[in-house]
Amino acid sequence: MRIVVLAGGIGGARFLLGVRAVAREVGAEVTAVVNVGDDVTLHGLRICPDLDSVMYTLGGGADPERGWGRVGETWTVKEELAAYGAEPTWFGLGDKDIATHLVRTRMLDAGYPLSAVTDALCDRWQPGIRVLPASDDRVETHAVVEVDGVTKAIHFQEWWIRHRAELPTQRFVFVGAETAKPAAGVLDALAAADVVLVAPSNPVVSVAPILAVPAVREAVATGKAPVVGVSPIIGTAPVRGMADKCLAVVGVECSPAGVGGLFGARSAGGVLDGWLVDESDAGVEVPGLTVHARPLWMTDEAATGAIVRAALSVAGVS
Ligand code: GDP
Ligand code: CA
Repeated sequence: MRIVVLAGGIGGARFLLGVRAVAREVGAEVTAVVNVGDDVTLHGLRICPDLDSVMYTLGGGADPERGWGRVGETWTVKEELAAYGAEPTWFGLGDKDIATHLVRTRMLDAGYPLSAVTDALCDRWQPGIRVLPASDDRVETHAVVEVDGVTKAIHFQEWWIRHRAELPTQRFVFVGAETAKPAAGVLDALAAADVVLVAPSNPVVSVAPILAVPAVREAVATGKAPVVGVSPIIGTAPVRGMADKCLAVVGVECSPAGVGGLFGARSAGGVLDGWLVDESDAGVEVPGLTVHARPLWMTDEAATGAIVRAALSVAGVS
């Protein structure tokens, strides 16, 4: 069996731990197509937060408490940059993490596409699955905000981390998405997939930027593989993080029904066939989707594996 997973950072990475565990049991191949909308250049370094969360988590090098970055991290370079007054100071740039960004930036500057760079970085981390950026082109999420009466677009990272998602925000723009092409390997993986899973990632700023690449959306929406999503929302709140603030910007209710409706049924121009919601949300209906309820807390690999098995069963491939 071939499984393709659309994934953001922390939620995507945790879900992929369960996908990998199930894949090892059933002998499946896994490809993660990861969001690049959060990618940003700071202090001359190209940073890919979601790719790194996936790579570090599956490679056993992530900080489990913080959720992002490296375990046993130190912050000397960040402190030194702050001592110079070098902006921005709001981004958490750890010393070990910086080595990743140095290697990546150097390879990108030498002309390698991001997919090849990611492969090279994964040589060290051995994630046990194929990790692909959604695109090798620039697809960057910006927030259109009002600051002192002026409307402007700021990078998603600045909106999310510096402003804690608290600025009055009109909308998100995926800069470059319209002309972006899927990264090398993405369309082949989707064409060969027996099932596509949408991880319980932030629907607005992790999954939507992946699907904003026109050929990726087309391949998911019209491919032969069934597509099943897992809700990142339980009840009326994200399990973790600020997805509620992103959903408010796009005018979607923060609920499993709201997010299921945002993705929509493939039969009606959307991207999903099935939708998994938490057991406490049993009874939720989304037009056109097969909805199943089961525990969706990714407390450990076994619990997450059970979610993955349920998703495969909704897809009819288990
Ligand atoms: P980010 O890119 O690092 O923000 O991570 P993602 O976009 O991949 O995932 C963030 C989403 O994961 C949040 O909206 C959370 O609600 C969701 N999430 C985190 N832990 C869990 C969990 O245990 N169960 C479910 N269903 N969702 C979770
Ligand atoms: Ca992210």
